[in-house]
Amino acid sequence: MANDHYDVIVIGAGPAGYVAAIRCTQLGLKTACIDNWTDPEGNASPGGTCLNVGCIPSKALLESSALFAQAQNDLGQHGISVGSPKMSIKTMQARKDAVVGKLTSGIGQLFKANKITFFHGKGRVLPERQVAVMDLNSGKISDTLVGKNIIIATGSTPVELPGFKFDHKNILDSADTLALKSAPKHLLIVGAGVIGLELGSVWARLGAKVTILEAMDTLLPMVDGQVAREAARHFKKQGLEIILGAKVSAYKSNQSGLTVDYEFKGETRQIKADKLAVMVGRRANLDGVLAPDCVIETTPQGQIVVNEFCQTSTSGVWAIGDVVRGPMLAHKGSEEGVLVAESIAARKTYALDLQCIPSVIYTHPEIAWIGQTEAELKEANIEFAKGQFPFAASGRAQASGHTDGMIKVLSDKKTDRILGVHMIGEHTSELLAEAVFAMQYRGTAEDLGRTIHSHPSLSETLKEAALNVHKEAIHKMN
Ligand code: NAD
Repeated sequence: MANDHYDVIVIGAGPAGYVAAIRCTQLGLKTACIDNWTDPEGNASPGGTCLNVGCIPSKALLESSALFAQAQNDLGQHGISVGSPKMSIKTMQARKDAVVGKLTSGIGQLFKANKITFFHGKGRVLPERQVAVMDLNSGKISDTLVGKNIIIATGSTPVELPGFKFDHKNILDSADTLALKSAPKHLLIVGAGVIGLELGSVWARLGAKVTILEAMDTLLPMVDGQVAREAARHFKKQGLEIILGAKVSAYKSNQSGLTVDYEFKGETRQIKADKLAVMVGRRANLDGVLAPDCVIETTPQGQIVVNEFCQTSTSGVWAIGDVVRGPMLAHKGSEEGVLVAESIAARKTYALDLQCIPSVIYTHPEIAWIGQTEAELKEANIEFAKGQFPFAASGRAQASGHTDGMIKVLSDKKTDRILGVHMIGEHTSELLAEAVFAMQYRGTAEDLGRTIHSHPSLSETLKEAALNVHKEAIHKMN
């Protein structure tokens, strides 16, 4: 049993933890990282939820299913006939698994190249900045490490609904839904959030009837209202049935499938389905991570309390990513990882601007935004000017045939500083980066409008939306 000393011990090798570990070693800190994710062959699989069962595999399936839908519906207009395309879900899943394997093994290689000591086990924080590494088979302590600093980056797990325990056969979590071997006849999803809409899109494109029950009365309340309404129209056209104001209450299963009860406008309704996928959010994963005698403050919701520099209530112990406040997004966790590494190395650091974190929903069309919505600005009594531009007026969008959607820029009425950018349309996940950069550096709508953009490109839509803030767009009536 080793008793090793490190400058930094990182628990968790998801996008928050592995980035923190790499940045620590870049800054000359002796670093260990502990992670318990295990692939089906029993090997370590660093990368956390994002790489193993989240962002990356879902994007692989979204891509495959979108190509299938294009082959069915869109190629004809280009003069391409492919007959009746067939989908091998087995091949699609094997491709997805290969993508995941490539990326997780890539992290292993980065760890080796950066001389990070990796432990495949479960980390547990003990008092006096000690961390126990528990063997995944025996559950016994295999190593005890001592760190000048500890970074907790143990991520999150899916929330379970009372009465709907995941059995991973009929009641599925997001990982099960990503791994289905065939399209269910009727997939019922609880929760029209980011995961429900992305995975609902995948299986609807592959032939499943998809119904989504959403407890709230509004679809995507965090998204700009105009964008959310346009998205709802597209989802309906794609055959996604979304029932708002519906709360599941119970289910029965028998040979012929599931019968699910839900409350809707004061009455109990029933719906039949083959599979029920519950995607109602995620909760911080601290199961077994903090020994009872270590004093690290947590919230009643089970997140670790941190300040703006991700310091916990115990000096030298830091926490980043989904285990702390803020949106549960991989890129937010990674940025916190860099911030903490640089703080430990006594570099000059700046707290993350939680208002300046981009969000994307990878449906078709994609939804992407940063900053405040019109509703939020009105609520906060902030006077703003608005400009928008439709993709239908973009030459590049017309040429490629992806003319749905628009970009909206909101800027401060007095200073012109950009307060929010809201997009729906093809490739908006990529187009958003320019808006993020502009906001990060306190840019104005005029800055975006005066910047030269390649022609023809979809990015001109952002420029024109920014010009439209001051009624100066060229390719539309202002
Ligand atoms: P979410 O919070 O985005 O959505 C959950 C939805 O379920 C909400 O709309 C909520 O109103 C609804 N809901 C809750 N209880 C319900 C009930 N009893 N019946 C019906 N509906 C109910 O959560 P998620 O989709 O599970 O995603 C989890 C986290 O992962 C989020 O923080 C999300 O941002 C993140 N994530 C991000 C991406 C991305 O960036 N593209 C992709 C996947 C996940």
